[in-house]
Amino acid sequence: MGVLHVDLDGFRLINDSFGPAVGDAVLVEMATRLRALCPPVAEVGRVGVDEFLIVFPSNDAGAVFDASLRQLADAIRSSIATPVAHDGLELHLTAPVGASRGPEDAITAVDLLAAADRAVRAGRQIGRNQFRVHDMTIDIRNHDNLRLDRDLRVATARRELEVYYQPIIDVATGGLAGAEALVRWHHCERGPVPPSEFIPTAEATGSISAISEFVLGTVADDLAAWSTSGIFPAEGRVSVNISAAEFNRVDFLDRLTAAIDGTGTDPSRLELEITESLLVEDLSAAAERITEMDRLGFGVAIDDFGTGYSSLSYLHELPLHTLKIDRRFIAKPSDDRSGAVATAIVSLARNLGFVAVAEGLEHEYQRAFVARSGCEFAQGFLFAPPLPKATFERYLVDHHL
Ligand code: C2E
Ligand code: MG
Ligand code: MG
Repeated sequence: MGVLHVDLDGFRLINDSFGPAVGDAVLVEMATRLRALCPPVAEVGRVGVDEFLIVFPSNDAGAVFDASLRQLADAIRSSIATPVAHDGLELHLTAPVGASRGPEDAITAVDLLAAADRAVRAGRQIGRNQFRVHDMTIDIRNHDNLRLDRDLRVATARRELEVYYQPIIDVATGGLAGAEALVRWHHCERGPVPPSEFIPTAEATGSISAISEFVLGTVADDLAAWSTSGIFPAEGRVSVNISAAEFNRVDFLDRLTAAIDGTGTDPSRLELEITESLLVEDLSAAAERITEMDRLGFGVAIDDFGTGYSSLSYLHELPLHTLKIDRRFIAKPSDDRSGAVATAIVSLARNLGFVAVAEGLEHEYQRAFVARSGCEFAQGFLFAPPLPKATFERYLVDHHL
């Protein structure tokens, strides 16, 4: 038998933007389309807010069966990608699909469902709207992730984690305005592991909380020391990345205050970077939380702004401090329409009373473009890469006073 797990992308955005009545209509339409595509012997069901499951018996096996699974999955993906017309709106969704096969991948219902679910999630890591049949490499990767997670849990205790600081520059004066804290992991056997490799695992398994606590505590301690020695600008802030899994915890705000409590650092010296996707998932919950962060005195920044498919309507309602312009909009400002996007984000930020920070400047022509666009702050290898604390402190002494 075959199991297809269909996970709608974009449904939450539609539901949040247009209301539950439109959301319901979209779900009914998607269910109707799925039913029409599947063979009569198939069971089609909705198993989550925006998730459907298709289960069907088959006499095929091996490559023939895989081919028929792919054919059905392709038909489903293209059918779902056909826009839904509703009340003058044209609504677009995509649907990653994961498949598992009985008895090849598993023999019990629970295991078959779990295998199809893992296949969807493995597809998601490759990109949007993927189809993936369950295979052993997924399990091997999950196993690798488990090992990574076990290592991560002891990494803080073993002092394998370190906070690097990347200077944020005042574009007009070239002086230092602040810094972004970026975590580094020196694994005892593997050597340096980049955040792009361990943060997603840490988010999935929950060890992100310990990392976050470590980074926030370290930054607060360092800020306190710098304020005593006077080497860091008095008005300067340090940005800390907050991952979705951390932000969504019920006790997030308590943990935030606890992490800096007793360090002598004021919340206003910290800027917390969150990603747009948090606002897409559950806008009202996120808005409430951001308001509370602001009330506690923390600055809030949206990281990688412009890459997260969010609607602009929320922006003016949120007490934000900063929009960080993703480096893809800065990469080729002259021969690319991306330059227009960067300029638009700068004026959006200015008109809403926020600050704009351009990320990933590597070349002088990018600095010139950023200055012309009116963006006040920038960071990138052009000025300095993320630096270990001691090197950053030397940089502070050389560039600040
Ligand atoms: P991000 O917050 O957007 O951080 C900027 C990334 O761009 C950093 O990568 C930085 O090293 C890199 N970068 C800076 N200047 C340039 C440049 O001129 N050119 C290029 N090509 N890259 C530049 P990094 O340190 O590898 O971090 C990657 C991502 O991992 C970060 O993206 C952030 O989302 C996440 N991350 C890093 N540290 C933490 C942390 O402490 N907590 C959490 N939750 N996430 C973190
Ligand atoms: Mg960041
Ligand atoms: Mg960024």
